[in-house]
Amino acid sequence: MTSSEPRFCFPPPPQHSLAIAGTETRFPVRAIYCVGRNYREHAREMGAPVDGAPCFFMKPAHALLSDSSRIPYPPATSDFQHEVELVIALGSGGRRIPPEEAMRCIFGYGIGLDLTRRDLQAQLKKQSQPWELSKSFTGSAACSALVPAGAESIHRVPHRIRLIVNGSLRQEGQSDQMIWPMATLLSELSRYEELAAGDLLFTGTPAGVGPLAVGDRGFAELVGSCRLDFEVVPGPA
Ligand code: MN
Repeated sequence: MTSSEPRFCFPPPPQHSLAIAGTETRFPVRAIYCVGRNYREHAREMGAPVDGAPCFFMKPAHALLSDSSRIPYPPATSDFQHEVELVIALGSGGRRIPPEEAMRCIFGYGIGLDLTRRDLQAQLKKQSQPWELSKSFTGSAACSALVPAGAESIHRVPHRIRLIVNGSLRQEGQSDQMIWPMATLLSELSRYEELAAGDLLFTGTPAGVGPLAVGDRGFAELVGSCRLDFEVVPGPA
């Protein structure tokens, strides 16, 4: 036994990853961070305060829906909701990153859906319990192919995001409406966790969250840069 390679009792799970626009290379995903109530109008519609520190939470890498236009309707909810969000993908990280250095960590951008069992989330909040089962389930993090930070299209700021469902505009927002700008979010998060290449950050949703039903079709868009087409399909019972 000279090999330093570990021997596993069963094959290790697959590495979750995202496509990168314009290349065959893929972005390997490590951790998925999310921030709640980063747009004032959404905080208001949820009845949440708009002051205080950012509310961070996480999803496991296996929550990721990539390379698929099919969103399975999850079990144990009757109020499955969409939250369209600008997604940041990190190419480097660190601890205690100053805000002025944070943007240099960004590998690229995507458009994502933070999918939520809203009925369960309300119940968990009321019981002062963790949100995981409402926010971090398998298939709760849909994300488009990434656009590299160096791409010309991505330099149009503010970044505009929107969500169309069955032909109707459900949500729209832009990055200059964020309560905590991207650099602040990364800097703040890095006080608690060492960020690393492969991390994703879902940066919060604008107002207009609402329910999805089996058969709904639509797309989320980072306007001018990338788009995620989807259809909601029956999931596991
Ligand atoms: Mn969200």
